[in-house]
Amino acid sequence: MRLVVLGGGESGVGTAILGKEKGYDVFVSDFGKIKENYKEVLISNGIDFEDEQHTENLILNADVVMKSPGIPEKAPIVKKLIEKGIPVISEIEFAAPFTKAITIGITGSNGKTTTTMLVYHLLKSAGLNVGLGGNIGKSFAQQVAEDKFDSYVLELSSFQLDGIVDYKPHIAIITNISPDHLDRYDYKYENYIDSKFRITMNQTEDDYLIYDADDEAITEWFKNNKTKAKLIPFSLTKTFNEGAFIQNNNMEVIINQDEFKMETESIALEGKHNMKNAMAATSVAKLMQIRKATIRESLSNFQGVEHRLEKVLKIQNVQYINDSKATNVNATFFALDSMNSPTVWIVGGVDKGNDYNELMSLVREKVKAIVCLGVDNKKIIDAFGNVVDMMIEVSNMTDAVRMAQRLTEKGDTVLLSPACASFDLFENYEDRGNQFKQAVQNL
Ligand code: ADP
Repeated sequence: MRLVVLGGGESGVGTAILGKEKGYDVFVSDFGKIKENYKEVLISNGIDFEDEQHTENLILNADVVMKSPGIPEKAPIVKKLIEKGIPVISEIEFAAPFTKAITIGITGSNGKTTTTMLVYHLLKSAGLNVGLGGNIGKSFAQQVAEDKFDSYVLELSSFQLDGIVDYKPHIAIITNISPDHLDRYDYKYENYIDSKFRITMNQTEDDYLIYDADDEAITEWFKNNKTKAKLIPFSLTKTFNEGAFIQNNNMEVIINQDEFKMETESIALEGKHNMKNAMAATSVAKLMQIRKATIRESLSNFQGVEHRLEKVLKIQNVQYINDSKATNVNATFFALDSMNSPTVWIVGGVDKGNDYNELMSLVREKVKAIVCLGVDNKKIIDAFGNVVDMMIEVSNMTDAVRMAQRLTEKGDTVLLSPACASFDLFENYEDRGNQFKQAVQNL
C-alpha cells in the first residue's frame, strides 16, 4: 500500500513515521519548504520526501493520502486526487485504527485549546496514562506509533474533522460555534457548522457528546439532525437532570445521577467563557470517573494557557492582560465581558469580515479608550469612534503599550484582545502576544 503524505509538518511527519512502521510505502510531499529538523527525522526513518514541489506521478499513484490540515481542499493537487477517487484523509483518521486507546475529541470555534489543556490536566492529575494531540503539541500519529498511552485528549479543528471517514471519539466536546474560516467553506456558515458536527457522526450509543446548550448554531443543528451519542449539555442559564450548569454561584455537574458541585469562585479560570470550558472539561472528568477531590484540586490550580486572557503584570495598580489568541469577535466578546475595571483596549489586525456591532454594548460599558493596532483600522474607527472618548492609531506594539499606559489611571486594565488575525504586523498570534508582554516588561 502506498501512503502519500501531503505536508511535511508535525502531523505529516508523524503520519509518515506511523505509516512506515505499519509497512506502507511512504512518500512525503510539501509544496513549501520542510523544516530541517523534520527532514532529519524523515531521513533517519528512511522515508522518501520532496519539498518546494509536488511531483504528480509520485503522488497520484497513492492508495491513500494523508492531507495536513493547513492544505485547502481546493489545492490543485488535492482536486486531482479527489477526481481520481483516491481517499484523502486526516492524520486522526489514519492513526486512530492503530490504537486501542480511547480518545476524547474537542472541537468548537473558540475554547478548544483551553478546554483540551484543562481536560488533559484533570486526567493527568488523576494519574491516568494520557497523551495530548491533534492541533496541540506532538503528532497523534507519532504517539500512536510509540504506543505509549491508554487515552488521548485531541484538539480537533474543522479541517481535521473534514478528513475523517470512520473515526469517532468516545467522548466529544463542541465548545461553541461562531463564524470563522469561512473562506475554506465557500463562505457558507452552514458548511462550517456541519464540519464541526462531523465529530459526532460515527459515535454510537456508548459514546458521549458534550455541548454548549446556550449556543444558537448548536441548538439549531439539533432541530434538524440527530446523533446516536448520549448528550451532555452545559449552560450558564439553564439547569439539567443530567449535564452541567451554574446555580447560586456554584458549578454543578450531574452525570449518572452523581453530582459534583464547586463554588465558581474557587475555579482558577476567570470569565464566563471559562466557566463553560470548565463545565465541559469537568463533564469529561466525571464520565472518566475521576475522584471529586482530584477534580476540585485541578480546577482550583489550573492557571490557563499562554496568550488566552493571560495576566502579564500589574504596574502602578494597572493590570495588563494578554489575550492575543482572540482572533475573532466572539473571543473578544468574552474577554471584554470578563473585565471588571475600566479598560484600555488594544484591538486590530487582519479583519476576517468582523461585525463589531456585537461588541457595542460591552464597549460602552467597559472600555474607556481604544488603541488601534493594525494595518486597516477603518472599520474599528467607524464602529466605535462615537462610543469611546479616546481612540488612537499606532503602528507597532511598543507604541500601543506606551499609549495604553498613558491613558490609564490606577485601578484600570489594559487588555490586548485583537479580534483579528495577526499576519499584518506579526508572524503569528504568539509573536504578537510575546511582543505585548515584552513591551509591558519594558514599561
Ligand atoms: P481555540 O483553540 O479554539 O482557538 P483557545 O482556548 O485558544 O481556543 O481560546 C481562543 C480565544 O478565545 C482566547 O482569546 C480565549 O480567551 C477565548 N475563549 C476561550 N474559551 C472560549 C469560549 N468558550 N467561548 C468564547 N471564547 C473563548
